[in-house]
Amino acid sequence: MSIPFSRPSIGAEEIEEVVACLRSGWITSGPRTARFEQEFAEVVHSTHAIAVSSATAGLHLAMLVLDLQPGDEVITSPLTWPATVNTIVFAGGKPVLVDIEADTLNLDVRQLSRKLSDRTRAIVPVHFAGQPCDMAPLMEIAGAKGLRVVEDAAHAVGTEYRGRRVGSIGDLSVFSFHPIKNITTAEGGMITTDDGELARRLRLLRFHGVERDAWKAYGGAQLPLYDVSMPGLKYNLTDIQSAIGLHQLRKLDDFIARRQHLARRYDAALADVPEIRPLGNAPYPFRHAHHLYVVRVQTAALRINREEFMAAVQAAGVGLGLHFIAVHELTYYRRLLGDLRAELPVATDASRRIFSLPLYPGLADSDVDRVVEVLRQTVNANRR
Ligand SMILES: *Cc1c(COP(=O)(O)O)cnc(C)c1O
Repeated sequence: MSIPFSRPSIGAEEIEEVVACLRSGWITSGPRTARFEQEFAEVVHSTHAIAVSSATAGLHLAMLVLDLQPGDEVITSPLTWPATVNTIVFAGGKPVLVDIEADTLNLDVRQLSRKLSDRTRAIVPVHFAGQPCDMAPLMEIAGAKGLRVVEDAAHAVGTEYRGRRVGSIGDLSVFSFHPIKNITTAEGGMITTDDGELARRLRLLRFHGVERDAWKAYGGAQLPLYDVSMPGLKYNLTDIQSAIGLHQLRKLDDFIARRQHLARRYDAALADVPEIRPLGNAPYPFRHAHHLYVVRVQTAALRINREEFMAAVQAAGVGLGLHFIAVHELTYYRRLLGDLRAELPVATDASRRIFSLPLYPGLADSDVDRVVEVLRQTVNANRR
């Protein structure tokens, strides 16, 4: 039996809620999505939550609402999913990459100031693997320079930084409910903010620029009239998806507790496999959402490279992930930004040595032991 890299934890509650939604007569955005938004806002301590069809859609809207002008710069991490930088480009901005910390693979906030210019408009920290970036100094720089902060919180549902929930710190936070993330709606995302004006514009951008709630209009006496004061997209989350999300959200703390237990078990089991090094912990107080368990392989000790190592582990029946190939190593961004390998040494090195181990609530303790045993055997079979 092989161990998959990821598997969503869907229970009877989610299935029954989806069936109830299908039977209710309202399957696109409606009452369940409104309730999911409200409960999500409560969980992350934000005033507004805007449900969207994916975190990519959410990041796109977040970038559009910044009203970037051609040539405006947005600072972010090179170690992220392409959506973070693609959406900056689609909104007319230029991504500016700042190197990461070797131990946490989070944006190195100490290097931020060097990358600021008079075209800088926003900072997009990525809370890598569920561990928060150092938000206090980042918010201070943003405040002093009048920059917006948009958190890529795709890994960070349930993450806390110095006692504050991610989702209540920056101007905007964007969460993902893709099946591998900490909670899922199959596909989906959420934008949170305390700024009522940003929330209003995001809701318009999310749905054609049309101002009213269709589900209220179609249900009652209200006439189905509408007006458009700005163009919008079609990025709404359906009630079928929100039906799943409502129950996932209630299980979030249990999911994180289970992920934390498994992460500790990996930590302990990997302590005597020095060629496979887990990430370190940030020095400030935080709650880790344990979205990913990322390790770095010490290829200098081995006869094979990272790709060959991963192939050997997968051939032994253990699914692996790769989070992420550094943005500046991707063809489009290499062309757009030039060769940044020397300027981003930590991200460049990490990008070549990392991979991610299976980590999800349904993983058994014995699966963790088996994964580590396969890693140990692969190291022993390929020592230099
Ligand atoms: C998954 C992910 C996204 C995109 O999320 P989707 O919901 O799949 O669009 C964005 N940023 C990061 C860092 C991610 O891991």
